[in-house]
Amino acid sequence: MAGNFYNVQCPDCENEQVVFGKASTEVSCAVCGVTLATPTGGKAEFEGEVLDVVENRTVEAE
Ligand SMILES: [Zn+2]
Repeated sequence: MAGNFYNVQCPDCENEQVVFGKASTEVSCAVCGVTLATPTGGKAEFEGEVLDVVENRTVEAE
């Protein structure tokens, strides 16, 4: 089962971070620590602006 990654921009510091679309744990900004993604049981809910969708980002083929 493959999932997409999303390039999310932090609403506080504008850091761009790649977040797994089905994150099962809360994802924080690596720079300022604000929450970028919250797990909802399925697709994660993003707090920042999604700039880009990154498919199969150099991960092994499944
Ligand atoms: Zn930040």
